[in-house]
Amino acid sequence: MTPSLPLLPGSLINGRPVMLGVLGGGQLGRMFVHAAQSLGYDTVVLDPDPTSPAGLVSHQQIQAEYADPSALAELAARAQAITTEFENVPAEALATLARQRPVAPAAEAVAIAQDRVLEKAHFVRSAQSSGVSPAPYAVIENESDLAGVPSDLLPGILKTARLGYDGKGQARVATQDELIAAWRDAGSVPCVLEKMLPLTLECSVIVARGRDGQMASLPVQRNLHRGGILSVTEVYENNLPEALALKAQAATRQIAHDLEYVGVLCVEYFVLEDGTLVVNEMAPRPHNSGHYTVDACDCSQFDLQVRTLTGLPLPAPRQHSAAIMLNLLGDLWYDAAGNPRELPWREVLALPGAHLHLYGKVEARRGRKMGHLTMTGASAADVRAAALQAAALLGIEAF
Ligand code: ATP
Ligand code: MG
Repeated sequence: MTPSLPLLPGSLINGRPVMLGVLGGGQLGRMFVHAAQSLGYDTVVLDPDPTSPAGLVSHQQIQAEYADPSALAELAARAQAITTEFENVPAEALATLARQRPVAPAAEAVAIAQDRVLEKAHFVRSAQSSGVSPAPYAVIENESDLAGVPSDLLPGILKTARLGYDGKGQARVATQDELIAAWRDAGSVPCVLEKMLPLTLECSVIVARGRDGQMASLPVQRNLHRGGILSVTEVYENNLPEALALKAQAATRQIAHDLEYVGVLCVEYFVLEDGTLVVNEMAPRPHNSGHYTVDACDCSQFDLQVRTLTGLPLPAPRQHSAAIMLNLLGDLWYDAAGNPRELPWREVLALPGAHLHLYGKVEARRGRKMGHLTMTGASAADVRAAALQAAALLGIEAF
């Protein structure tokens, strides 16, 4: 039986608080669990790893693969509503769960976000209303598609249609021969070739959309990527020209509306040298670039995820502090010679407005997201000064 919404905080089912389920046990799941628990909900996490960041802090964990039918049945039995923190969860798993419980986001939306071919086609559709298009691209599914690639897409970036993240599954190609080699290297799987664009900056926008279509959007986030991985997010007044910020927010709302999306959605954008805004990709969940909302806004992206899932109201979030988030990758846990090192947390935490979040991961690996540090301040100048001090202490390159 599908329980009726809203699932109000404090309501009991068989003598226990309402239990919310999440597919995936990574750091995004961990922060969802924190937000759910602060409203008094119980939580259950489905993840195969017994030491997953979210599993470690959840009331319950079902330790199994995401597609395991008996584990999904168990999740639907225990949880009154279910969300995902993991983009590559099989869409069928969400569809199965949705037959028994409210699920947000829906399987259809996740299936589109998982596949760059479907995702780009969706962006092209939304561009008719928003005027914000994706980079020029071609779909490559077989050898004859390769031969037909227009030469003005080169130099370009070949991206696998599925399972790419943090720059994985991507190759930069300058010539037709390099393109052919890269496509074969990628295993001859479906890909998109995108024209390489002259970026001046990157940004992202998060919206939350309820089942009734009501939306709440967060401020535009200015992002710096290094080595294909998000490194720094800066959010304060005039972090972007206002016209661009408004355009990105409107385009994000249009994309969510056209998907009939329910839940938290993040859309990434490029700004080109001539000022054009280009839509890059979307994530059907909270996003690394939205972590600052926990410390700098009166409603975080994870609060919004709980609210959209349970059918609670979505008042407009307000950012109360200028914020800069520094991603803490596993690289920082090693010195230049590759030996493990102590991080200067005492000095970092002595800085005003320092909010350290570590995800409970024991093993630091290069490129692994171990945590993040959000610096908050009264003004952009204050927060930049403090964040640059923190970066220097941690060995993060200045920005
Ligand atoms: P994520 O971790 O955000 O999911 P991803 O692996 O899916 O990353 P993209 O966001 O597609 O990858 O690309 C990673 C980065 O590569 C972008 O943030 C941007 O810096 C650069 N990039 C991607 N596509 C282009 C392009 N067409 N032109 C120029 N730079 C690009
Ligand atoms: Mg990206």
